[in-house]
Formats: sequence, C-alpha cells, structure tokens
Amino acid sequence: MTAFQPIAADRISRWDRSVDVLIIGYGIAGACAALEAHRAGAEVLVVERASGGGGASALSSGIFYLGGGTAVQQACGYEDDAEEMYKFLMASTQAPDAQLVRRYCDDNVEHFNWLEAQGVPFERTSFKGKAVFLNTTECLFSTGSEKVWPFREVAKPAPRGHKVAGQGENAGAVGMAAILQRCTDEGVPALYDAQATGLVVDASGRVVGVQAKQLGTTLHLQARRGVILATGGFNMNKTMLAEHAPRMLGNAEPLGIPYNDGAGITMGHAAGADTQAMGGVIATASFYPPAQLIKGILVNRRGERFVAEDAYHGRTADFIIEQPGHTAYLIVDADIFAYPEITSAGHTLVDGWETVAEMEAGLNMPAGALQRTIADYNRHAVHGEDPLLHKHPDWVKPLDKGPYAAFDVSFNKSVYLFLTLGGLKTTARTEVLRADGTIIPGLYAVGACASSIPQDGKGYASGLSLGPGSYFGRVAGRQAAAANATA
Ligand SMILES: Cc1cc2nc3c(=O)[nH]c(=O)nc-3n(C[C@H](O)[C@H](O)[C@H](O)COP(=O)(O)OP(=O)(O)OC[C@H]3O[C@@H](n4cnc5c(N)ncnc54)[C@H](O)[C@@H]3O)c2cc1C
Repeated sequence: MTAFQPIAADRISRWDRSVDVLIIGYGIAGACAALEAHRAGAEVLVVERASGGGGASALSSGIFYLGGGTAVQQACGYEDDAEEMYKFLMASTQAPDAQLVRRYCDDNVEHFNWLEAQGVPFERTSFKGKAVFLNTTECLFSTGSEKVWPFREVAKPAPRGHKVAGQGENAGAVGMAAILQRCTDEGVPALYDAQATGLVVDASGRVVGVQAKQLGTTLHLQARRGVILATGGFNMNKTMLAEHAPRMLGNAEPLGIPYNDGAGITMGHAAGADTQAMGGVIATASFYPPAQLIKGILVNRRGERFVAEDAYHGRTADFIIEQPGHTAYLIVDADIFAYPEITSAGHTLVDGWETVAEMEAGLNMPAGALQRTIADYNRHAVHGEDPLLHKHPDWVKPLDKGPYAAFDVSFNKSVYLFLTLGGLKTTARTEVLRADGTIIPGLYAVGACASSIPQDGKGYASGLSLGPGSYFGRVAGRQAAAANATA
C-alpha cells in the first residue's frame, strides 16, 4: 500500500472548500453518515468519485441483517432479542470486538425504525424456505448460520435477514434511492466525479482534510471536525487482492463497482492506520436452492465430509476453499436429485452412477473412501443424526436410493462471486486506530472500507454489510459532527 500518501497540511496555502465533516464515498455507509452529521448541525460535504451516489450498495440484494425484535420479526411471529443476537454474532465472528457487536445489537430495533423512517420499505412478510436472495418483495428470512451447529447451541436462532421491498435480485437500489432522496431533500451537498487521492494531515497527526481530483483539477478540501472514509471494499484491486486474498485471483469474480478499489483503506493505512481481517472474504456459489439438496453431502477429493451442509453458503464456500485442490462434490441420491437453481454458479453434473462404489471410481477417489463416508453417514442418518458434523436433523436422511449423482462445486471449477471484508481497524465509535491502539484524530471509517462485524465467510450472514454499514455510518456522522473543530 504505497499510493495515496498523506499530504502535510502546512504545504496547503489555500483550501478550495472548508466544511465541518467530509464524507468520502456515497454508498450506504457514506449516505447514512452524511445524513446524521448534517442533522446534527454540521456543515458536510460528500466527495464521490462516480457521477452519482449509490456505490455497490445500489447493486446489492438489499438484505440488511437486523434483529433484536424488529417490527418485522414481531409481525411475523418471531421472538428475538438483542442478547441472543449478540451471542450469535460473538460466536460466529472470527475476532469480534465485543463493544462494537454490543452496540450494533443493542441499537438494532432503533436502527430498523430509522431506516424505515428514511423511506426504506420493508414488508411485514417472511419467507420460510432456504434461499440465497429473494426475487419477490418478501422481507424476513434466514440468511445466516443461526440454526447451524455450534451456533444453535450458543444462541436462540431467529431469522434476521430483512430484505428491502423491491422486486428482483437487486433490491438494494430501492433502499439506496430512498436514502439518497432523503439526502437531496435535506440539502446534503455532494461533489461528484471527485476522487479523493490522499488525506491531509497536520503536524500533530490529526486528519484535517482531503486532496481530491475533480475533472483534472486538484482540490484541497478542509474538514474542521473530521473525515469519514466510506469508499467500499477492495475487491476490484488486483494488487491488493494479490497481497491479501490471493486465492480469489483467477478463481472467483468480484462483486461490486469498479471504484471498490480499496482507496479508503490505502489512504488510511498510509496515514498510519491499522487494518484488520484483510484476508477475509465472503465467497458464494450456493448449491441450494432447491433446499432438498441440503440433504446431500459435500465431500472433498479424498471422499471426506468437511462442513455441515446446512451451513450458510458463504461458510460452506470458505470450507470448500480450504480443501485439497479447492475441490468438492455434492453427492445426492435418487430421492433428492435436482439441479441447483442458481445456474450462474456453474455447478456441473459430473455424472450419475448405479452404486456408490462406481461413483467413487468415477470421481477418482481413493478406493473405499467414499463408500466408508456414506456408510458412516447413513448408519446415523437413519436415526436423524449426524454426530460427525451435526447437520440439523431437518436435513438428515440416509443416501441409499440409487442411482447416485455428483455435482462439482469446486472453488476453481464453479463460478464463485466474492466481496472483501477486511479494512481499517476502528473503535466501536468508528474512530480509526493505529497499530499501537491509539486513535488517529479526525479520521473515521465505515462500511466495507472498515473491518466491522463480519470478518470471514465462515462468520458471514447476508445483510452483515448493509446492516452494520448503515448503522456505523450513522455513528460516524454523529461522532464527527460532535468533535471539536480545528479552525
Ligand atoms: C450484487 C451484490 C449484492 C449484494 N447484496 C448484499 C446484500 O443483500 N446485503 C448486504 O449486506 N450486502 C450485500 N452486498 C455487499 C454490499 O452491497 C456492500 O458491502 C456495501 O454496499 C458496501 O457499502 P459501502 O457504503 O461501504 O460501499 P459502496 O456502496 O461501494 O460505496 C462506496 C462509494 O465510494 C466511492 N468511492 C470509492 N473510492 C473513492 C474515492 N477515492 N473518492 C471518492 N469516492 C470514492 C464509490 O464510487 C462508491 O460510490 C452485495 C454486493 C453486491 C455487489
């Protein structure tokens, strides 16, 4: 990370513009930060590289991970509370910051109400099946591993995926349009086609502004109270991927907009910030729906199971990536055979076989390995049990009705899509931290350029980007607006 070096404040003879709070990036995190800072009475300016707001947030499926007893959960008859949500997120996150998780969970009902008050629409409906995204306007569904072992023993499961009421796979646009409209209505100013290229830092180490390029002109923008970085992830930056998440290169497709190139992370790091979970990604190429396929088993090329098949698809993907040769097969019998519905995931049918022994040979597995795995699995499955990986009894049945089939779900043979989860390390108040644990005064980071609750695919649940991104965006907006002014 060498580009985007900080600029010394004493080299700037004249500010082109001076405000209280500069927000860099106008996706969900930046827009929520701008609204709250503006409402707190601060003079704000959003600096956005694209010609309009939206970012990857406007491309998203519009699922927010929210719980603790939201109005939708209540209307649909689900019990949840902040404590159960906290216990689940603490157990599923790789290296959780307890304060940050606590804050998110405790404020979740208020945050849901806030999103609705901005005009983000959520139906009082739920979808009870297993889905990766919803094409309908239905709202509440299970989008994480809450019912998966060991999490179901740690916290009471509840569905927490809240999908914005928009048709189709990209309902995030409906939510973003509402929030951006609110910013426009309330007079939040924005500079478009303006790329932040470096933080301006004074002699004390405080961030006091930003250098930006707009249509060939270099601008120096002063932030009297704070700069909020909200530039998104780095999945479009091949150099950063090569350094931090090299397995994604050549094997998986990034999800996002071209400007998710890690600029905020790089600028922050160059100004002394620490980073966290930089190797963490959520990769996905789900083999379900249809849900019946979850009753199959996943095996590696040694014929061994390695993950409970009812896990969230991002958790499953992380385990598949770790297998020898990144190779994995979904094994089904005649009872449950179906083609995966998400055809874009590219899980090809390898073949069908009359016996497990023939399948084992057809998949070039060591003699006896797959036969042993299936015999062991079936022995317990007749009792609805899975002592090896604890798949929920709902999804356990013996695989004993030939013919058998295998789908190739290997990481390097299917079409996996991914988002980066690593970013700048912050406090629960979104202040950016140095490696020594001290705060960089004047600098905040939110959304996908910050390392927040989800840190890897094993702990991800759909909605853990838009949910914390929007919530901590609000925290940063209020925090920066309340900071002491420098000039
Ligand atoms: C297809 C798809 C589906 C998804 N579905 C979901 C989902 O349902 N739920 C969920 O939680 N997550 C989902 N995600 C992930 C989620 O959308 C992102 O993680 C989240 O939107 C990030 O928000 P953000 O505000 O941090 O970044 P963004 O929304 O990407 O906004 C960052 C903004 O910063 C701007 N920018 C970048 N660099 C600069 C610079 N140097 N100067 C000025 N501006 C800059 C960009 O142009 C952009 O507008 C999905 C992502 C995709 C692509």
